[in-house]
Amino acid sequence: MRFSGLRVLREGLTGNRGWQAHWRDASPKDAYDVVIIGGGGHGLSTAYYLAREHGITNVAVLEKGYLGGGNVGRNTTIVRANYFLPGNSEFYSHSLKLWEGLEQELNYNVMHSQRGQIVVFHSDGQRDAAIRRGNAMRNQGDDAELLSVAQLKKVLPYLDYAQARFPIYGGLLQRRAGTARHDAVAWGYARGASDRGVDLIQNCEVTGIDIEGGVVKGVQTSRGAIRAKKVAVIVAGRSSQVAAMAGMRLPIESHVLQAFVTEGLKPCIDHVVSFGMGHFYISQSDKGGLVFGGDLDMYASYAARGNLPLVEHVMEAGMTLMPMIGQAKVLRSWGGIMDMSPDGSPIIDRAPVEGLYLNCGWCYGGFKAVPGSGHCMAHLVATDRPHKAAERLRLDRFRTGRGLMDEEGTGAQHNLH
Ligand SMILES: Cc1cc2nc3c(=O)[nH]c(=O)nc-3n(C[C@H](O)[C@H](O)[C@H](O)COP(=O)(O)OP(=O)(O)OC[C@H]3O[C@@H](n4cnc5c(N)ncnc54)[C@H](O)[C@@H]3O)c2cc1C
Repeated sequence: MRFSGLRVLREGLTGNRGWQAHWRDASPKDAYDVVIIGGGGHGLSTAYYLAREHGITNVAVLEKGYLGGGNVGRNTTIVRANYFLPGNSEFYSHSLKLWEGLEQELNYNVMHSQRGQIVVFHSDGQRDAAIRRGNAMRNQGDDAELLSVAQLKKVLPYLDYAQARFPIYGGLLQRRAGTARHDAVAWGYARGASDRGVDLIQNCEVTGIDIEGGVVKGVQTSRGAIRAKKVAVIVAGRSSQVAAMAGMRLPIESHVLQAFVTEGLKPCIDHVVSFGMGHFYISQSDKGGLVFGGDLDMYASYAARGNLPLVEHVMEAGMTLMPMIGQAKVLRSWGGIMDMSPDGSPIIDRAPVEGLYLNCGWCYGGFKAVPGSGHCMAHLVATDRPHKAAERLRLDRFRTGRGLMDEEGTGAQHNLH
């Protein structure tokens, strides 16, 4: 089923009876070439690129709940390529380029909106850091512009420029950054993978990983055993638990991150805006709700909901930056489980077990990585070699200390990037 303007028109005129299910709801077969554990954004994009780029279609995606019910459908949808450190910089740049052709590639409206992201800064030191980051972005071939206060006032007139505590010194703009409809991204990749023969199996929890003589043989699931030549663990916040099934202890902690949405308002926030002094970011969805979030709850947890101190902190940060949002009513808040790595950077690598592959450590920034991660992970699984854009995202950096993304920075700090 192809989507087009003409198709929408025809369906509209004929009672919308011709639409088909976007993907086949498959039942597990006995064996596959590749089993992917986790039907989030990264698992689905990996399946899609395995089929699309490498012709590997005897693949199953096993999802314990429903497709897109994890973090991919819970995030604040920000897509950007403004990373500073080598390793991350080229990877997220690669991912943003894939975003830019994604809707045409998938024939699916993921509502990718390059409305620009502005990170506001509040001191001379922060301005220096923003300039360095902007230069790193431009060296990578991506766009970055430094905005003065006068320029900022034109594009973000609603910020509180008068306050003394966090005076606004300017902003770093990436015009190609923006947002996308999060669950549509999962659905688009699911449809693309299913169309190419991948089995998408929901309500199928992996409970064990079968290994013989150091070689992966398959998985145990709530719907029976499945043999596989290769198994990819792509379960975000559950990475440590699933890796433990293969006897591995990952350098990953799971933490809850919350997000919030207000009632629908007329368009008032045109960009993604991030507060440099506190941890706060906001955009306005196409339905009109203000979508915003802040920092982690800062304790390890597998709960997909957070606590009130962080709610208060996020609201305070928002009110400090743009007091006008105090007029809006918050309708909902929710949480997701973040796979936090010690250096704030992801892992796309082979595991010590032959035939087992790991994709995790996305911290609170893995939505923007969905295309790049799937693309690089599929390359790794298909060829057993890292993709060029992801060759520094190795697991052994935590054992050897070499290649830690922030090795030259201030120490193992998850928010340096
Ligand atoms: C509140 C919030 C805001 C965020 N904001 C942003 C943002 O603005 N920009 C950005 O880039 N990133 C953001 N993120 C991060 C981003 O959403 C995640 O890094 C990314 O979605 C994680 O990858 P995923 O989509 O594959 O994860 P998920 O969607 O969580 O997929 C993992 C899947 O694995 C399944 N699974 C787990 N265990 C098993 C098992 N044993 N068997 C079978 N299946 C299993 C889970 O059910 C889940 O569906 C945010 C996250 C949250 C929670």
